[in-house]
Amino acid sequence: MKFSQLFVSTLKDTPKDATLKSHQYLLRGGFIQQIGSGIYNFLPLGEKLLRKVSDIVREEMNASGAQEILMGFVTPSELWRESGRYEQYGRELLRFKDRKDNEFVLGPTHEEMVTSIAKNSIRSYKQLPVHLYQIHTKFRDELRPRFGLLRGREFIMKDGYSFHSSWEDLDREFQTMELTYKRILERMGVEFKVVEADSGAIGGSGSKEFMVLAPCGEDTIVVCESCDYGANIEIAQRMPRTAPRTNEVKYDSNPPKAAFARFFTPEVKTIESLSEFFKVDTFWILKAIVKKAVRADNSAELAYFFVRGDDEGEDTKMLNILNAKDTFLSLEDASIEEIKAAGLEAGFIGPYGLRHITQSEHIYFDLSLKDANELICGANEKDWHLVGVDLGTFEGLEYVDIAAVKEGDCCPKCAQRLCYSAGIEVGHIFKLGTKYSQALNAHFLNKEGKAEALIMGCYGFGISRILPAILEQKSDELGCVWSKEVSVFDIAIIISNTKDSTQYEFALTLYEELKSQGVDVLLDERDERFGVKMKDFELLGFYSALIVGKALSEGKVEFILREGLQKRELKADRHLSQAIMQALD
Ligand code: ATP
Ligand code: MG
Repeated sequence: MKFSQLFVSTLKDTPKDATLKSHQYLLRGGFIQQIGSGIYNFLPLGEKLLRKVSDIVREEMNASGAQEILMGFVTPSELWRESGRYEQYGRELLRFKDRKDNEFVLGPTHEEMVTSIAKNSIRSYKQLPVHLYQIHTKFRDELRPRFGLLRGREFIMKDGYSFHSSWEDLDREFQTMELTYKRILERMGVEFKVVEADSGAIGGSGSKEFMVLAPCGEDTIVVCESCDYGANIEIAQRMPRTAPRTNEVKYDSNPPKAAFARFFTPEVKTIESLSEFFKVDTFWILKAIVKKAVRADNSAELAYFFVRGDDEGEDTKMLNILNAKDTFLSLEDASIEEIKAAGLEAGFIGPYGLRHITQSEHIYFDLSLKDANELICGANEKDWHLVGVDLGTFEGLEYVDIAAVKEGDCCPKCAQRLCYSAGIEVGHIFKLGTKYSQALNAHFLNKEGKAEALIMGCYGFGISRILPAILEQKSDELGCVWSKEVSVFDIAIIISNTKDSTQYEFALTLYEELKSQGVDVLLDERDERFGVKMKDFELLGFYSALIVGKALSEGKVEFILREGLQKRELKADRHLSQAIMQALD
């Protein structure tokens, strides 16, 4: 390709509203153009990037035995009603009608559709296992589309679905996919971490996320400093806590010594003010969290959670606990008025008589409170707290994992220190089990000739999201840095002075030669200043460049790797194309 023929226009200035560097560079480099909130056009350079990452994903998926299909983007809502997700999925699901009043959804994910394919085609265990995947557009009406391609509304995903006759075979495929995804990300040249994850709205048991490590990442992942434990904070676990975190001790790490008593605590409502009032560490104070759990039909119920004063509740964990008994879509903080209406006083809530006052089924205690004593808690009466509380004396309390792991907590595997890292989720693999096959009646006949529900796995990879994820990790202050396999061109030959016919002819011959040897090469023969061409190379981030300039008269050219801008002189002789091929390897 010659640069003068390339359909691209780069921008000097940073577009407003683009806060992340990946978003800025993708717009400035003319890879993409925004056409609406969370919707983008891909221009030639952007389309080629998509193709490069899709090819890597496709090659690795095919190599692991999966088969490519293409499913309709527009999905009849009947299928979604059968699975129950038409109501459950919430507002990210775009629902609409055609001229005959038939209802449809724009597929945000395709479990229903692929299960119906399986239902229509799979009869016997002999046809199993099978893994079908597609690389296709998805639509999710995200609440806050942002950061360009990182969180779009319309985006491109690789979604794969596997079908099995046994749980063991699903486990095997799940492991195969973990390895496949690792190979994909290694080829894309990014640092990543595989972590345990929540299964979210898609449902099922057991899931792992693939996180590209980058400071801007929206996901907090908890990693162990000494072993390989890693989990999304949404489900991360820790060893039970027995004392305040050493770095947080303010008063005394020992519990306050007091016989059970009521204390007048006027206007002392927050954990911090209580800690000051009693001169005790927040670890010994019972923190009450009141949430409003909302169902798909907008009905809601209050739920009560208790954690140690120096812990926070983790919304995903709390929601999952509630959903073991009911089906809630989301959690909101309960307002002071709603708390009052339940017969309670915000700031003075405690476990004594709580069930009686609220009649609630949903009262939970964090695991680190199991049989805890010498606590301070609200007395369920304005301006009063109780001191010397022993939870061990209560009967029938439900202890569950609801607190968010903090840095400094201990690893559940090896007891060493846990810390946080920021990640961008680019892949997510799930063991779905029979959730969809049961709902949609997708069965197979087993060896005994009996019908059983198909056992399923599903495997998502963000084709368009991986582009900004790579940039968030690899780009520098000058522009994009793409790894070799993702870069739009392997090399850009930059002619320093196009009016110099020796430079021009030499570059053109080399361009043809490299092309004939299968190198994807861009010839920058534009009638522009050298500085302009160099800036474009730096912004667009092609894997490498070869500068044909003044030094050519001394038989030399300069080879530059974009990553780190490492420079190297090469001899401009008849072995040059070979030397370049070696340098590219
Ligand atoms: P997130 O928590 O970031 O919203 P998710 O858990 O909803 O992601 P999945 O349903 O597991 O994502 O989808 C599979 C993959 O699709 C994700 O790992 C991600 O790479 C990609 N993806 C999901 N939502 C978006 C989006 N709004 N824009 C771009 N890519 C997305
Ligand atoms: Mg999402």
